[in-house]
Amino acid sequence: MKESRDASELNHLKVKVERLRGIGPKRARALSKLGIETLGDLLSWFPRRYEDRRETRRVADLIPGESVCVIARIDSVPSVTHIRKGLDLMKMRVSDETGVMEIKFFNQTWRKADFDSGGIFVFYGRAEWFHGRWGMSNPETERETQREITGRIIPVYPLASGVSQLILRRCIREGLNILNARPEMLRDILPDEIKKRYDLCGAGYAYQNIHFPEDEQALLSARRRLAFEELFLFSIGLRGMRKRRESGSAPLFKINDLSPFSRQLPFELTNAQKRCIEEAAADMSSGIPMNRLCQGDVGAGKTMVAAGCVYLCVKNHHQAAMMAPTEILARQHYENLNPLMESLDISCALLTGSTAAKERRELLKRLKTGELDFLIGTHALIAGNLEWNDLGLVITDEQHRFGVAQRASLAAYGRNPNTLVMSATPIPRTLALALYGDLDISILDESPPGRKKIETYAVTGAYRERIYKFIKKLVLQGRQAYMICPMVSENGHDDNHYNYYESESDEKGEQKAVEEYAEYLRARVFPDLRIARVHGKMKSKEKENIMSAFAAGESDILVSTTVVEVGVDVPNAVIIVIENAERFGLSQLHQLRGRVGRGKEQSYCVLISDYQNEETKRRLKAMTRTTDGFEIAEEDLRLRGPGDFFGQRQHGLPALKVADLGMDAELLEQARSAAEILSRDDPDLKNHPLIAERAAEMFAPHQAEYGSK
Ligand code: ADP
Ligand code: MG
Repeated sequence: MKESRDASELNHLKVKVERLRGIGPKRARALSKLGIETLGDLLSWFPRRYEDRRETRRVADLIPGESVCVIARIDSVPSVTHIRKGLDLMKMRVSDETGVMEIKFFNQTWRKADFDSGGIFVFYGRAEWFHGRWGMSNPETERETQREITGRIIPVYPLASGVSQLILRRCIREGLNILNARPEMLRDILPDEIKKRYDLCGAGYAYQNIHFPEDEQALLSARRRLAFEELFLFSIGLRGMRKRRESGSAPLFKINDLSPFSRQLPFELTNAQKRCIEEAAADMSSGIPMNRLCQGDVGAGKTMVAAGCVYLCVKNHHQAAMMAPTEILARQHYENLNPLMESLDISCALLTGSTAAKERRELLKRLKTGELDFLIGTHALIAGNLEWNDLGLVITDEQHRFGVAQRASLAAYGRNPNTLVMSATPIPRTLALALYGDLDISILDESPPGRKKIETYAVTGAYRERIYKFIKKLVLQGRQAYMICPMVSENGHDDNHYNYYESESDEKGEQKAVEEYAEYLRARVFPDLRIARVHGKMKSKEKENIMSAFAAGESDILVSTTVVEVGVDVPNAVIIVIENAERFGLSQLHQLRGRVGRGKEQSYCVLISDYQNEETKRRLKAMTRTTDGFEIAEEDLRLRGPGDFFGQRQHGLPALKVADLGMDAELLEQARSAAEILSRDDPDLKNHPLIAERAAEMFAPHQAEYGSK
């Protein structure tokens, strides 16, 4: 521990931002909203994109629609017109020797005093050709004598309220100036040999140029260096996790005979299921704690793999826990597994947030005495202070909703329980190896026999009438339907794939969309059918009730947003209609589609989209072509890259700020070998305390807050 404190003292990037010139308490507070507390945080607030503002044109040479800089003299001081409530227009005329341009500002009258007649300014904006003259609306401006935001490549940062681009740029500039004046403050964590070997630039140059690049080449090499650093730390961190685990000792399982378990099942286990259980069994009898990921497509039968492991665990006289991300899923597992467990003489219980206090007390007592063998639940399993008699196995279902931190906190309950993580998000093997370097992987690549392929159609809205008729027909036959409602996204498809802000307004919009759509269907399309609705804004109890009612057949159609995405099982639901299918990634569509096709009936998936660009078409086409989750995952990765692939950091690993696991596959390989070489020479990182500290920071729990709702 002492070692890392020494490292912190050496690490001058830990200087609080308040201590920088130009950053007072108020600005510091605003920055801290972005999570920026120290100089290091500030410098690591990387641009989301860049604007090339190097090009300057004379007015006569402008091209309509092009964003450029124009240097011009102010001919007339701005005039202000109040157009209507909430809309003020400020106009002025500017010119250079070749022509005249009209500059308009909307609702920026506070800038009036900036512009003096005769002053020479740089205007950066989109050139507009309107009514026979040139103009710009809301351009960025600065005096020609102080070129700060024009004449170069300019960073555009992700923002939060209270901090503008201008302020962020200034603060970061100031931070970089300090580094320039005192380069020793920034200790380059990458050893020289590594930099040389992989042709990486120095840290100082990299920080300078990731923010204010001299040119494209400098930007590329800065980016490459920082991405490498990130992937390197990532690899070091994963190695550390694996090492810590392997140094622990786990309960040793001696009994490995699965046949009593298999005999109780109404079906034969698939070969893939048998293999996965055997792999897990081998881990659990090794004495080193198991840390295994079982990846299998929806419907591949992961629950039985889990049950097999629970059986082995209990027969070896240890307790087992199984966590699901939602109460509905936990309950479903319980109802599903309890009869089987009873037949195997294993006591099994359910614990969730809504378990009554008395029942809970009872249950905890039995857990402590060891009378209870197997507990299924939600986060309640890790939230409360549960005392186990002897916890030997922890299973988490639908891994992508849990993070590393949560896994770790559950593991802390047993001394070193074995962990099995079940994921229905197929991940291409190459990526999985890199991402889950701390896990061993079993792949469930075979579905139980007799499954009907889900018929999938991609159509435009013109087909709605026909689809509605088809749904009616299915419902009259006693079947049920999911309808994923259309969504209006306010910010469209943002290019910022590491979206830091999940806003509340999204949920409100969701609620509105669900309600409007359900109301429309009720009033205009299906007046005789029972329509239920569920959305993210609802309390989980409410959601639960609606889902259970749907599962029990008490409604015909369930309108929802993506809340049905996670493993709910309603075998009688045979059709899912997805509106605005273009807004989903392939893997997400695949998950949604997995809600149907769970029973014996032929099932259908209809993807509606009027948004017919090439990429969308390819994506939807891929869905109609295959139902193989791994194939879809590969395609998704190829089309969109892993940032989108994983959605909002749901993979449960540290968010990468610079690197992109799809695009930087080669860099990742290099970083992994660099990490390996370093770890071989210095296994405990004794000579590299800064690397140890940064890697630990990257995996710190506060970085992994997601999916905990
Ligand atoms: P998932 O991998 O999506 O969690 P489940 O474990 O829910 O899949 O299994 C889907 C369905 O398949 C369940 O109804 C389950 O009983 C059934 N099932 C599982 N294994 C087999 C098998 N070997 N043969 C036949 N049906 C099976
Ligand atoms: Mg499942």
